[in-house]
Amino acid sequence: MADYLISGGTGYVPEDGLTAQQLFASADGLTYNDFLILPGFIDFIADEVDLTSALTRKITLKTPLISSPMDTVTEADMAIAMALMGGIGFIHHNCTPEFQANEKFEQGFITDPVVLSPSHTVGDVLEAKMRHGFSGIPITETGTMGSKLVGIVTSRDIDFLAEKDHTTLLSEVMTPRIELVVAPAGVTLKEANEILQRSKKGKLPIVNDRDELVAIIARTDLKKNRDYPLASKDSHKQLLCGAAVGTREDDKYRLDLLTQAGVDVIVLDSSQGNSVYQIAMVHYIKQKYPHLQVIGGNVVTAAQAKNLIDAGVDGLRVGMGCGSICITQEVMACGRPQGTAVYKVAEYARRFGVPIIADGGIQTVGHVVKALALGASTVMMGSLLAATTEAPGEYFFSDGVRLKKYRGMGSLDAMEKSSSSQKRYFSEGDKVKIAQGVSGSIQDKGSIQKFVPYLIAGIQHGCQDIGARSLSVLRSMMYSGELKFEKRTMSAQIEGGVHGLHSYEKRLY
Ligand code: GDP
Ligand code: GDP
Ligand code: 5GP
Repeated sequence: MADYLISGGTGYVPEDGLTAQQLFASADGLTYNDFLILPGFIDFIADEVDLTSALTRKITLKTPLISSPMDTVTEADMAIAMALMGGIGFIHHNCTPEFQANEKFEQGFITDPVVLSPSHTVGDVLEAKMRHGFSGIPITETGTMGSKLVGIVTSRDIDFLAEKDHTTLLSEVMTPRIELVVAPAGVTLKEANEILQRSKKGKLPIVNDRDELVAIIARTDLKKNRDYPLASKDSHKQLLCGAAVGTREDDKYRLDLLTQAGVDVIVLDSSQGNSVYQIAMVHYIKQKYPHLQVIGGNVVTAAQAKNLIDAGVDGLRVGMGCGSICITQEVMACGRPQGTAVYKVAEYARRFGVPIIADGGIQTVGHVVKALALGASTVMMGSLLAATTEAPGEYFFSDGVRLKKYRGMGSLDAMEKSSSSQKRYFSEGDKVKIAQGVSGSIQDKGSIQKFVPYLIAGIQHGCQDIGARSLSVLRSMMYSGELKFEKRTMSAQIEGGVHGLHSYEKRLY
């Protein structure tokens, strides 16, 4: 875009700042701290900024935030919380495939609920409650899905039974079919919501026209739907969940379990993704599971990206050596400053409709805005989400500070725990293990239920200052040259931080 018309129509102002193309034209690699974005014109409120963005060719998120597949960042709790708030989590693979596959979470229509028959006993319900944590159980003729619904048992039906009554048949305590409020197959979640509101019950069985049970809906889940309007869900209204796999033979077994568990998207976890192994794995997955979305990586150049795009990936993970726990650049001499990596790969991949994840090096919400302004569609975080309540691991105290462990998946610590992270870092079978990451700790950050909304609001305010009503507008402003950047000298960076105070408290939200 040419000159910029200032309000009042008093005339044109001269060109100012650099386009992204100009910013990255020189050979110097830039990190997020090396540049700023020049502000634009605001004619909307921050709340209105639409953060919808593509994770892969086929999956769109309402919040462009992703938790990294690391064993100190993403297991079930993190993946559920991220998806509820509109992002997604990728379960790490530094664990057994069975454990990883079990982390898949369901919400909305439960299509394979625990079901019992009238000849099961109260003891069976108690056992189910112990094992799974819930006791609302539909009863069908044969005790399986797809059989005729004959009743329901919930905690209220069995709570006051004495110890000796564990052998009581469910046919005696269940609420019989004739009294049940059910919904027909094909009912929408909204209709189901209204039915549950009227019936005031905890479960809604869904039956087909032969009165056979096809699903149930739990009231607690509908409440979550109301509380989390941004939640990321698939076509069956289940929360979206991603998982990491490697590129070895045994990863194919892991992949089978994950797909059976309903994983929506796979990331091929490699620090240097441009390899024959990864290309072969992409071909294998695309042939065996054509509908599964596959993210390749990591890459930092267009040439690396080309091979993976040619192989058929649906998204790319960008970043090498920029992670907070990472020593790849120091040890391997390979890598790229993250600002440049994101811009170069995104600029190339967009021609093929392949979205980019900016992975690693995100230290502040401003870095998230910068990554998105350079063409990334989503942002993956490790350290920023580590040491939250939802991150795996226990808190511990050191010098009176409450901490959780955070470690690189290529740290000796993580590689010693499992062979899968050795594979990511290519040192399996090597005589000498070469660490590409460190192991450390991070101060307690509380729940991401508070932190992610802060990130979301921060991104919206950043976009507002820029004058972009949505992330797609942000990207098109960048590619058209309307969005202007400026390099930051060292002293500019110092000026941009807090300075000159005797003391201060930095509270972010
Ligand atoms: P209940 O009243 O003891 O059954 O428990 P709630 O309805 O409060 O919570 C049950 C939670 O477990 C919900 O979030 C369900 O989505 C989840 N869930 C997952 N699988 C099943 C299942 O097979 N049966 C039931 N009842 N809940 C399940
Ligand atoms: P709870 O709060 O987790 O015990 O579960 P609910 O609110 O779902 O169930 C409370 C009582 O109502 C139990 O005795 C159930 O068997 C019974 N119940 C569950 N669904 C229905 C229904 O659709 N109609 C009737 N009449 N009773 C139901
Ligand atoms: P952070 O958000 O902490 O800056 O970076 C997280 C990212 O660092 C991860 O998503 C992953 O791509 C990368 N990473 C995780 N562990 C290691 C490691 O041990 N070595 C390297 N080089 N990168 C790592």
